[in-house]
Amino acid sequence: MTAKTTRDDFDRYMIPCFSPAKFIPIKGEGSQVWDQQGKHYIDLAGGIAVNSFGHNDPDLHNALQQQMNKIWHIGNGYTNEPVLNLARKLVDSTFADKVFFCNSGAEANEAALKLARKYARDHYGPEKNEIIAFNHAFHGRTLFTVSVGGQPKYSKDYAPLPQGITHLPFNDLAAVKAAISTKTCAIIVEPIIGEGGVIPASPDFLLGLRALCDEYNVTLIFDEVQTGAGRTGYLYAHQAYGVEPDLMTSAKGLGGGFPIGALLAKQAWAESFQPGTHGSTFGGNPLAAAVAGAVVDKLNADCLAGVKQRHTYFIEKLSQLTQQFDVFSEIRGQGLLIGAQLNAHWAGQAKALTTLAAEQGVIVLIAGPDVLRFAPALTISYEDIDIAFARLTRAFELVVHGA
Ligand code: PLP
Repeated sequence: MTAKTTRDDFDRYMIPCFSPAKFIPIKGEGSQVWDQQGKHYIDLAGGIAVNSFGHNDPDLHNALQQQMNKIWHIGNGYTNEPVLNLARKLVDSTFADKVFFCNSGAEANEAALKLARKYARDHYGPEKNEIIAFNHAFHGRTLFTVSVGGQPKYSKDYAPLPQGITHLPFNDLAAVKAAISTKTCAIIVEPIIGEGGVIPASPDFLLGLRALCDEYNVTLIFDEVQTGAGRTGYLYAHQAYGVEPDLMTSAKGLGGGFPIGALLAKQAWAESFQPGTHGSTFGGNPLAAAVAGAVVDKLNADCLAGVKQRHTYFIEKLSQLTQQFDVFSEIRGQGLLIGAQLNAHWAGQAKALTTLAAEQGVIVLIAGPDVLRFAPALTISYEDIDIAFARLTRAFELVVHGA
């Protein structure tokens, strides 16, 4: 007989990089999730901005199943139909001319940073290798991406770190003007800082970065791992700003729950990667590409207007919560990437609040100790939003009034 799997097995068998909730979700349908005990949750986390169409979406299911019956993996010594179809769809819908596929956001950013350095070396020489990044940014967990990310807590234990990286205050164009030079090869920025607190870039900031990059021959990289794939109500968040990058990374929601990462590039940059200069065993895997192809089709069909409408509804609901319980000092974000900043007397309580919310049957995220983050399925029903907020209200009632 197989032993019963319990949450204790996590502590027993898993390297403790994470501290997961005390329950184990076992089934999901749309934005609804059930745990081992049959308890019901509304999922406002979307697997951390990943499950673009919720759990068990029939179209994604179908795309995966059809591909499962054909070929799972062939390796990059051969190409495959799903990856070519996905690349064409991404090129047709964005600024990009070419795409490289990998398996995660960190890998996509790693590829972007390597490509920016190689492009600068190819065109301007080895001295042009410095990278400008921003405080509070998050770009992944590889050594290069934690070093470029603007949260020293994620890199400090792993020295010596890659060199030539400067961190500047976000949304501070004057600081970039003061720091940029002919040695700068790339600026990497999230259009909305996600993990670091859901902080949108100001339009002037992104426009100003573009102008500075043009002036100094610097590669502008947008990390759209969290903001991309429809999350903000645009296919990619920068499209709302009217600013184009030279390189862009995508992952998370692109696969709708199936792991995939992508680096999108303008032609001139793409040419700096040649056979052998970069690679991946699983990147461009037919299963992942088939699912992501279905995701892009669905995003391009008719879902983006609904994301903007749901944003308005979420803001109303969060405003009601704050009127009732005086809990948030600011609500930020776009589309269905929303951050609610806890006010001073709730400071540091974000994680504890997610535990209380889960007890009431709602799954929510944090973005640092003082921000509750919401990144549900882009198609979450209004009924599910109502249920979730009724449960969140109950959670706050219990914590504020004790009943
Ligand atoms: N970049 C951003 C903006 C992210 O939010 C994340 C993950 O949260 C990453 C990169 C890393 O992605 P992954 O965890 O898929 O490596």
